[in-house]
Amino acid sequence: SKIEEMSSEVTDDNPYSRLMALKRMGIVENYERIKDYSVAIVGIGGVGSVTAEMLTRCGIGKLLLYDFDTVSMANMNRLFFTPDQAGMSKVDASYKTLTNINPDVEFECYQYNITTMDHFDPFLQSLSNGGKAPKKPVDLVLSCVDNFEARMSVNQACNELDIKWMESGVSEDAVSGHIQFMIPGRTACYQCAPPLIVASGVKQIKREGVCAASLPTTMGITAGLLAQNVLKYLLNFGSVGYYVGYSALTDFFPTMVVKPNPHCSNRWCMVRQEQHKDNPLSLQNTNCNV
Ligand code: ATP
Ligand code: ZN
Repeated sequence: SKIEEMSSEVTDDNPYSRLMALKRMGIVENYERIKDYSVAIVGIGGVGSVTAEMLTRCGIGKLLLYDFDTVSMANMNRLFFTPDQAGMSKVDASYKTLTNINPDVEFECYQYNITTMDHFDPFLQSLSNGGKAPKKPVDLVLSCVDNFEARMSVNQACNELDIKWMESGVSEDAVSGHIQFMIPGRTACYQCAPPLIVASGVKQIKREGVCAASLPTTMGITAGLLAQNVLKYLLNFGSVGYYVGYSALTDFFPTMVVKPNPHCSNRWCMVRQEQHKDNPLSLQNTNCNV
């Protein structure tokens, strides 16, 4: 592949040379592995589109993109989409831009609502077969949606398929965001932690008839935190964040680890907790080698 070919060269026309420098400088042991990974991104809006662009520019092997919506002029206060794309489906518009930026990345695009009865099964199928190698699951799912139901569907799918995922969100008033790494059975799932949802998530749940605010800055920062966590997890460097919050008004970045709830109402979460009962997450060491 292009990454391998160019790994030792440092030339001005090599798109990967600056990424390969991470290896020479001892930050990442094996950067080339990025091309073996497949990541699913659910919701290609303000956070998902920017995360997709970052991973594309980093040379990720494959991206699966899910969004039922079309690009509108109301999206122009965010990054990524352009006015000439208004009316196009978000997944098609993204595919065009991203494949132009990096033709080495493989794409699968799905324009449907993941929460509906007839789409949930195809959604599960696409995740279980969406890996870089044939018949392998994706390595990670990123939830970049703006409503409770879609997050619950991602949670259900990942608990059922035993796939690690990262949740992300930006508040309705546009001045805070968060990311959260979910490992089925080892960290809290989305249904495990009602207190956390009540404390920080309630404003992230899209309310009917409320015109949410949005800022390209908060969304871009949240996308940056998310994409960085993906790189750290996949390429195994630094400490992977379990929960990282961002409060724009005070420049406050709270972090924490949320343990699974032994009485979680999600049946598959309980199955995964049982499987991992001898392998709990160490709360002292937030560097997770999982
Ligand atoms: P706004 O509602 O503020 O105008 P938006 O709908 O684009 O913006 P974002 O937060 O920027 O919201 O992005 C969330 C994305 O997730 C949207 O593109 C939306 O279409 C997508 N999404 C939400 N729910 C689902 C779902 N159930 N299935 C597929 N995509 C979804
Ligand atoms: Zn749970």
